[in-house]
Amino acid sequence: MRTPLIAGNWKMNGSAERVRAFGEAFARAEFAAAVDIAVIPPFPYLEAARSAFSATPLALGAQTLNPHPAGAHTGEVNAAMLVEFGVSYVLVGHSERRQHYGETDEGVYQRVCAALDAGLVPVLCVGEVLEERQAGATREVVLGQVAAVMQRLEPGQRERLVIAYEPVWAIGTGLTATPAEAQTTMGEIRAYLATLDRSLGDTLRLLYGGSMKASNAAELLAQPDIDGGLVGGASLQVDDFFAICQSAG
Ligand code: PEP
Repeated sequence: MRTPLIAGNWKMNGSAERVRAFGEAFARAEFAAAVDIAVIPPFPYLEAARSAFSATPLALGAQTLNPHPAGAHTGEVNAAMLVEFGVSYVLVGHSERRQHYGETDEGVYQRVCAALDAGLVPVLCVGEVLEERQAGATREVVLGQVAAVMQRLEPGQRERLVIAYEPVWAIGTGLTATPAEAQTTMGEIRAYLATLDRSLGDTLRLLYGGSMKASNAAELLAQPDIDGGLVGGASLQVDDFFAICQSAG
């Protein structure tokens, strides 16, 4: 039984007031079934969020990390710092980081290792761009991104990841993969994981991301291989995010 995970990626949005509002709303939260929930604000809000979320079910995530332990990396944040600020999850290889900030498969692997070494849960983001989908290359691209990390990890490490399948053409566009489209690719990811280790296929959580919102979450989450969501835009309004969490819990 995989406990669903809903993770809200605020990207470069948010404010101290939004942190406070989420803390207040989720302090009263009740869910019908078990659900893990994470909020992933920009770095400067981590400390305020740790305090505001202390009496809520909200765990804290970060949007990326630098794989080096310390040193001359101006503007960067390492895994130990995230741990010190109460972070549990960290996004790795989000498509915006891959496209605009040079996160390659090799860099993604290094970040996953740094996160695991520090005891963080890496949320490995994978997904195809529109041209790749149109060229019929979705499976190859997505499984390639998964394999670039999974093949190099030890068995004891692999089981500590979460994988987020985010078709890039659906991120922030209002376009959502249909539940059937998402299920097809996520079923392929799970089948690939099972070739590495049968129990990995059964236990690893796979999240869907790409314009998930309150109105489509339940249908997506009902798919057998979708264990939760990585939510961008709809995670910024507390009521919308709360409704998505309720669809999962
Ligand atoms: C994301 O940023 O990971 C994401 C899925 O964004 P959105 O929900 O806005 O498409």
